[in-house]
Amino acid sequence: MTATLSARPRFGPGDLDALIDELLALLGPRGVSTLDRALDRAARDGSTMSPILSAQPLGRPDVVCYPKAAHQVPAIVRAAVRHGVPITARGKGTGNYGQVVPRYGGLVMDMTSLSAIGELTDTTVTAEAGARMINLEQAAWDAGRQLWMYPSTAQSTLGGFLAGGSAGTGTIVHGRNHMGFVESVDVVYGHEDAELVHLTGPDAQPMVHTYGVAGIIVAATVRIEPLQDWKCLYASFDSHYDAFPAAMRAAAIEPKPRLLSADCATVVEALPADPAFVPGRANVRGIIDAAALDETISVLVAAGGRIEAVRTGPAQTMRLSTLSYNHPTWWLQKSVPDTYFHMECQGEALVTRLHEVEAVYPGGMLHLETGHGTMFGMLNGIYRDPEQVYAGVPALAELGVSVHSPHQSYVDLDADRVRELARTTDPKGLLNPGRWRE
Ligand SMILES: Cc1cc2nc3c(=O)[nH]c(=O)nc-3n(C[C@H](O)[C@H](O)[C@H](O)COP(=O)(O)OP(=O)(O)OC[C@H]3O[C@@H](n4cnc5c(N)ncnc54)[C@H](O)[C@@H]3O)c2cc1C
Repeated sequence: MTATLSARPRFGPGDLDALIDELLALLGPRGVSTLDRALDRAARDGSTMSPILSAQPLGRPDVVCYPKAAHQVPAIVRAAVRHGVPITARGKGTGNYGQVVPRYGGLVMDMTSLSAIGELTDTTVTAEAGARMINLEQAAWDAGRQLWMYPSTAQSTLGGFLAGGSAGTGTIVHGRNHMGFVESVDVVYGHEDAELVHLTGPDAQPMVHTYGVAGIIVAATVRIEPLQDWKCLYASFDSHYDAFPAAMRAAAIEPKPRLLSADCATVVEALPADPAFVPGRANVRGIIDAAALDETISVLVAAGGRIEAVRTGPAQTMRLSTLSYNHPTWWLQKSVPDTYFHMECQGEALVTRLHEVEAVYPGGMLHLETGHGTMFGMLNGIYRDPEQVYAGVPALAELGVSVHSPHQSYVDLDADRVRELARTTDPKGLLNPGRWRE
């Protein structure tokens, strides 16, 4: 029999009450909440960055639970599946597409108490899904190692980054998180007899960036590598039209940077105050291997850059990381509320045809990241309506820029493959339902 993924699970008050009774027996009164405060919190995430998502009713849970031990997760899932109630796993709730907001209500399982960090080998670290990325990076540094990658939301969880995120500091060398970052995962499927399932190597990769629709990650082993001697370099430029090509050249210097970002003066002014951010000047900043520092400085200075600071230490690299990826947009939106939207863009044209790219949207300003062999970034523009946002997509395509819209919460990486997988791992369609573009 072919399993179907029902778009909207049907459950009634009786199903919910029966589930809540079972959860209380399993987790005790402190492990379950139906208080408005808890439900509201579990209905929020970083999707407020999108004016389009912000205008939509994204969902609200009926109950939130807080497992404290890994073995409780399969028991919770078994109970929810038996009663036909949807289950959405939640990490720190920083996902910016609304993908953690339970579209059809039901149960939100807050994973943040499952935060133990386990064994470190020379090449891997194992941790529970609720462990913070910043704590994993710190544990790696303590052992003379570094994570392959972590997102700019460094306080977010391992499970959330694997299931909902994609890239960050380290991506220039290692690519995105579905490209071998994960060695193994312990997952729970949406089955009535759910247990922990251990997946390794190629079997573990399909669980990455699936928004939890094909399984709930309880623990994972991810890759680390020898710690490099990092320098945090800040340079300012008269104009970002000089700064961006310079950043592109600097990104190619070996050993490759761990992060290299660039912004125009207007975005720089929205960032937290720092002597290295000079009013009226564009900025290039990077986490640079000490062995590449002199060459990087030469390249930036030759392109018209002025070196503003060179800093050392884990706190400095972490600070620089938290000013990358979506964060400049986040700061821009904070400094000028209710004005901007952004589009996630990729392609060499972001640098080579920057004037034309920025002209696609009124007030267009690109935040640039150097990626794994390509340039990508967040194109900020002044928001008018959804039609204006989507009309920019073909215009960008004509310039050779591909776009990922941050204004939708559908599974967006190999959706057909993930859907096929979920037919067996979640036959009743109860894991974070409503994530398929119909
Ligand atoms: C300002 C800003 C900057 C950002 N920068 C980056 C960045 O640099 N790189 C990047 O990749 N992302 C970035 N993001 C997106 C997001 O912050 C990250 O992907 C983050 O790692 C998500 O982790 P989280 O714990 O907050 O997950 P959540 O938001 O809680 O969850 C994200 C998704 O994963 C699912 N999920 C959570 N835990 C589990 C689990 N244990 N098992 C199965 N599914 C689970 C959720 O259901 C949801 O679909 C940014 C977002 C914002 C708002």
